[in-house]
Amino acid sequence: MRRAAFVIGIVGLIAVAPLAAVPAYDFPEARPFSGTVWRNPYEGWWSGFQKVNLHAHSRAWGGLTAGASSAEELASTYARWGFNALAISNYFEVTRIAEPPLPMVRAYEHGLNFTKSHRLVLGTDDVVPFDFPFSSRSARQWVIDAIGRPGALVGLNHPSLRQGHACADTEALTGYQLFEVHNAYATSAFEWDCALSAGRLVWAMGNDDSHSTREEGIGIAWNMVGTQALDEASILSALGQGRSYVVRGERGQMDAALLGLTVEPSGAMRLELSQPAARVEWLTDGGAVRQVDVDVDRSTFTPHPHDHYVRVVVRTPRTELVLNPVVRSGSWTAPVASIDWPLTLGSWAAWLLCAMSVAWLGRPRKHLRLVEPMQRAA
Ligand SMILES: [Zn+2]
Repeated sequence: MRRAAFVIGIVGLIAVAPLAAVPAYDFPEARPFSGTVWRNPYEGWWSGFQKVNLHAHSRAWGGLTAGASSAEELASTYARWGFNALAISNYFEVTRIAEPPLPMVRAYEHGLNFTKSHRLVLGTDDVVPFDFPFSSRSARQWVIDAIGRPGALVGLNHPSLRQGHACADTEALTGYQLFEVHNAYATSAFEWDCALSAGRLVWAMGNDDSHSTREEGIGIAWNMVGTQALDEASILSALGQGRSYVVRGERGQMDAALLGLTVEPSGAMRLELSQPAARVEWLTDGGAVRQVDVDVDRSTFTPHPHDHYVRVVVRTPRTELVLNPVVRSGSWTAPVASIDWPLTLGSWAAWLLCAMSVAWLGRPRKHLRLVEPMQRAA
């Protein structure tokens, strides 16, 4: 009995040991964007957008990860469907193609855990091959900090899927740049508004998360990236500045495109589309819809003094466009989560005490043997 308890204790400790080693983070409290000027990621950009998918899986790891097509087949399919660039994002592996049929962005998906807390890492060959099977918010922050590289971008993939990064996480976490608002399996606009409302400036992504070249899985969601050059550095630079928008389309087609979004010094905002849209929605803090215009290709909006960010959603019968936010700026600085050392040392001491208690309970002992009745009789 004692031995069984000891074994269970040891197995339990091994399972949570990685989590016990994670430092405790101090997350800066939610602080909305502030300032008298508006920061517009589309300012001055009239040079068009490129169609890019950043999340796709090819066959990898001997077929374990559900990618059904080769990287070459996948890239050829995206080129044929009119995409201008592609990232193949296999788990913990940067996949390369000898002669790619379209410009490629280096990428891998990071995440091996029970909560589907997955991240996309773009623009590096440096794969971090470690994750926590069970996760805490501090562990998620530790991973984000560990996978980031200079010049690379980190995004949260499908945050709402199995609540891998729930609202309480996204309003706390810092240190990443991109947020997958749409993919084939999840829509995470609610979690994105949690991040934005808390003053976390992260830009929207839309991706297929395709696992084969099957038509049903291609052209579901993608990014229109404001760059003329299609090299990796130019694509990442535009994404990192928020000069992109998300399309949720149908078989790779879109009915209306963004021509521009301008902000006047007074704060008045003006949207211009290539085609009239059934609905243009202006949203502010918490994703609250503040204005709806119907059947328009031009729309203007004047924010309220209490609005800290403004974002636009455009809907047509076959398409949804999700624009990046225009945020207040001037007195706002990017929040950074940092390690809380007193709490960390305290929790490490508690874990050590716990481990020592288990070891003490399972220590080998001399057993007192009762004298058997037969022996007594003899
Ligand atoms: Zn994933």
